[in-house]
Amino acid sequence: MQYPLIKTDLDKIRANSRLMTNLTRPYGIEVVGVTKGFCASVEIAQAMLDGGIKILADSRLQNLRRLRQELGGVRLMHLRIPMPSEVPDLVSVADYILISDAWIGELISKAALRLGKKQKVLLMIDLGDLREGVLPQNTFKVIEQLISLKGIELYGLGTNLTCYGAVIPTRELMEELVELATQARTRYGIELPVISGGNSSSLNLVLKKEMPAGITQLRLGESILLGVEAARRTAIPSAYSDAFTLYAEVIELLEKPSIPRGEIGLDAFGNRPVFEDRGIRRRAIVALGQHDIVVEKLKPLFPGVKILGASSDHMILDVSDADVNLSLGDIIPFSLEYGALIHGILSPYVDMVYDKNDSEKTKKILSGMNKINIKRPTA
Ligand SMILES: *Cc1c(COP(=O)(O)O)cnc(C)c1O
Repeated sequence: MQYPLIKTDLDKIRANSRLMTNLTRPYGIEVVGVTKGFCASVEIAQAMLDGGIKILADSRLQNLRRLRQELGGVRLMHLRIPMPSEVPDLVSVADYILISDAWIGELISKAALRLGKKQKVLLMIDLGDLREGVLPQNTFKVIEQLISLKGIELYGLGTNLTCYGAVIPTRELMEELVELATQARTRYGIELPVISGGNSSSLNLVLKKEMPAGITQLRLGESILLGVEAARRTAIPSAYSDAFTLYAEVIELLEKPSIPRGEIGLDAFGNRPVFEDRGIRRRAIVALGQHDIVVEKLKPLFPGVKILGASSDHMILDVSDADVNLSLGDIIPFSLEYGALIHGILSPYVDMVYDKNDSEKTKKILSGMNKINIKRPTA
């Protein structure tokens, strides 16, 4: 265990999961907990379950396999429309698979029949975001093909918004999805018990009390992890936004000019940097860089500390205006946006610690934070 590390407060994940299930229940909506943002860490997935979530979802087969292995009979959903080559494996692990194509439906059906099972699938409808899904006008054509397949059960319709096209979910779009399902039920005499109304960006409709009846499910990742709805990244009232904290260690502290000396070429990543002359500044380097994380998606949690930039392994901070008096070896905490969280968790250089199982050693490392003294304002 060493720095940099990401600490997860599992109590806050539990509380956010509980909050989302409580917020959506009055609308007849079940929350599916999306685990891809934390690479399906079993500890965090378990915290979602402890918070009242009953179904977990991931976009990667490997992650679903691990969840199945570690968490046993929990219901699992595969989020990304499948690669044809992974269909047989998916069918052996997933309870629900999102699809957008009748031929994939055939592959799934064949694989399911071989296993002697009937695979539940949700047909994704593209309501304008232009990522996955059949266009609304082609829905019935695909449904007809799918319901003729012996190895699958068309279990519902779904949609995904605010991902590629950044289209914001509206009551009208949700009604369009519900209406397609209603028509399909009468036309084909099928049940379609699940209407999956999107990801964390659709949560806003629940918060504004604008979610129409008939939407029965939301697939939530970011809102549970970071306490924000995803359409405009606004905070969800009563949700924790600080379940994850990144810690990195100070390895240099020196006063330096704010403008480099010499002829300026390209930086470590081929960009031409620009600088503002603010005179001599106190700068800290922390042992963290672009090889560990997406530096642009971090925010220092100490007031007055500003990120100047980062190369592969060094992040440079301006600490001249910091409220704390820093020394070498001090640990600086950062908050993470979604993009940084997933890269940090995936990085072999960033360790993960959880509140509930901090080893003595971890506690000792984290207590390094105690070295930080609050700077007294000078008269
Ligand atoms: C990633 C993903 C989600 C979860 O998105 P969040 O914004 O993290 O809630 C839901 N559905 C699908 C299909 C996804 O790919």
